Amino acid sequence: MDMEYRRLGRSGLKVSAFSLGSWVTFHYQVDDSLAVECMKVAYDAGVNFFDNAEAYAQGRSEEIMGRALKKLGFPRDSYCVSSKVFWGGDLPTQRGLSRKHVHDACHAAMRRLDVDYLDLFFCHRPDHETPIEETVRAMGDLVRQGKVLYWGTSEWSADQIARAHGIAISLGVDPPTMEQPQYNMLHRERVEREYLQLYDDIGLGTTIWSPLASGILTGKYNQGVPDDSRLALPDYQWLRDQVLDEKGRENLEKVGRLQRVAEELDTSLAKLALAWCLRSTRVSTVILGASKVDQLRENLDALELLPRLSTEVLESIETILDNTPEPPATY
Ligand code: NDP
Repeated sequence: MDMEYRRLGRSGLKVSAFSLGSWVTFHYQVDDSLAVECMKVAYDAGVNFFDNAEAYAQGRSEEIMGRALKKLGFPRDSYCVSSKVFWGGDLPTQRGLSRKHVHDACHAAMRRLDVDYLDLFFCHRPDHETPIEETVRAMGDLVRQGKVLYWGTSEWSADQIARAHGIAISLGVDPPTMEQPQYNMLHRERVEREYLQLYDDIGLGTTIWSPLASGILTGKYNQGVPDDSRLALPDYQWLRDQVLDEKGRENLEKVGRLQRVAEELDTSLAKLALAWCLRSTRVSTVILGASKVDQLRENLDALELLPRLSTEVLESIETILDNTPEPPATY
């Protein structure tokens, strides 16, 4: 199945409908040679965006990706790579969205990734201790210097994004182009409700994360926690706790019912859940995560399912999920 390309919001950048990220996986589960293999499989399938962050494995994820990009030798104008700034280190100057840390984080990410510009650069979370204007100016400077092509946010509220946009326009600097929110069958509010106005008003693009809710939407946790899975990793007990709490158990029950919808379509639940994310035109790219090449191959194959998501199929999924966000009164 040919890759689909979507505009990153109103920008002219066309990103692949599926992209590849490295959170949890690179360094902890995926070493250099597996990273090379995964990125090659992704690129050969048409993926043109690789997502990263200064926080992932304390910079080691970017180093692995940088070495892989070098080894693979993809032409620099054929792919996009990102980083995110917020959690750089423990010192006060190494975190948050101050002009200093935004500047330092961008340069450190370029060094680790071994590139001379970042295609996408995200503010990984809002920083309540830095005026938005300071961050907007710092991002605007990086864009003007050619070190960042598009900047954006991750898990900012609609109000914060709108404020950043307004400030950028009034200062005559580049406004944020994209947001990176969590979006999957179990987590819908921001993409489907909160940001609605922003898609029309400022042409916001979205690069969505955890499309399988860390693997829950593959059904792999319905019979317990497999030893080689994310939830079994010692540093991710907090995720495991979420799956096993009351809400988590409710979700697993829904996952069991969704599995039957996938079976009726003769496909896997992972593919169904990924294609479901792509049914939304608000989604510019779905960032895939994979600890094994076979997972990645399966997930990339989900594009084939997209045309088969009929109204009836989508309605049966809605009935099971029972979490359709209410449209805002003013929209
Ligand atoms: P997913 O929700 O898709 O989870 C991916 C994990 O699920 C894999 O690592 C694997 O874990 C398991 N999995 C994936 N496919 C399959 C399959 N077919 N069968 C069985 N298990 C499967 O995405 P991530 O949570 O990894 O997020 C994707 C990307 O989004 C990240 O890499 C990162 O770039 C970005 N992100 C951004 C955040 C932000 O704050 N901006 C936050 C989180 C992620 P395992 O094999 O270990 O069980």
